[in-house]
Amino acid sequence: MFKHKLLISEANRYLKKGSGLLIALFITILFFIGVPMIAHKFWPLILGGKAALQLSYSSFFLIWSLTQHNLLTLVCNTVYFVLYAYEFPAIEKYKANKDTWPWKKDPAAWRGVLLKSLKVYFLNTNVLPVLVYAPLTYFEAISHHAETIEAIPSPVQLLVQLLFCMICDDFCFYWLHRLVHLPVLYRFHKMHHEHADSISITAEYAHPFEFLLGGLLPPAIGPAILGHRMHLVSVFAWYLVRVGEAIDQHSGYEFPFSPYRLLPMSGGS
Ligand SMILES: [Zn+2]
Repeated sequence: MFKHKLLISEANRYLKKGSGLLIALFITILFFIGVPMIAHKFWPLILGGKAALQLSYSSFFLIWSLTQHNLLTLVCNTVYFVLYAYEFPAIEKYKANKDTWPWKKDPAAWRGVLLKSLKVYFLNTNVLPVLVYAPLTYFEAISHHAETIEAIPSPVQLLVQLLFCMICDDFCFYWLHRLVHLPVLYRFHKMHHEHADSISITAEYAHPFEFLLGGLLPPAIGPAILGHRMHLVSVFAWYLVRVGEAIDQHSGYEFPFSPYRLLPMSGGS
């Protein structure tokens, strides 16, 4: 009975998307064909830059990861904040709930919340990864990923590896999320639920202890298992997809053309 209901609600979810489903499929195909194509064009230049700057594997990995994370967050949040500010009717119809946006309920309180969210973002996504990654590389506790031009993944390899990373991430995140809802750990997790109406900037708003467990660890499991069998291009593509997904999930909108809702049982904000 339960399974039956689930299948019906999933079928309805796909049907509701209409032509949005085709756009989502198109974006997905474009991504998996586009990334290897762009990599073949630019990866030799990137490796040249890395050699010219005499960057070690670890420094390059950290600098690239943090830069792409910050750039993606900046671009996505800028776009979302324009949408929030102008409330275009064509976009507002995709709002995930009927509540008013939090800055309209209490503008003064909102400014404080925004400032705190930015500080937490910087701590979680720029300070914490360095603190975790530096000792791991110092003790050579993580294996290096492939970085040669010959090993750049094909679209199918990229798809398979990203699906594998998604499964590892989802499995790990699910159990960790259940764990942090236990009374003993909820005092850390309640911070993430402070934002009753989630928006794009709240994607990585969590207590640093929780972010370490639920934000940094689950997405790193897949790449850690695949090790040298996964190219750096695939790892960076995976982190782009994952951060984009977190922002999309928390944006407060449920767009039918979002490629993140293509997979069965996927949920949003
Ligand atoms: Zn929770």
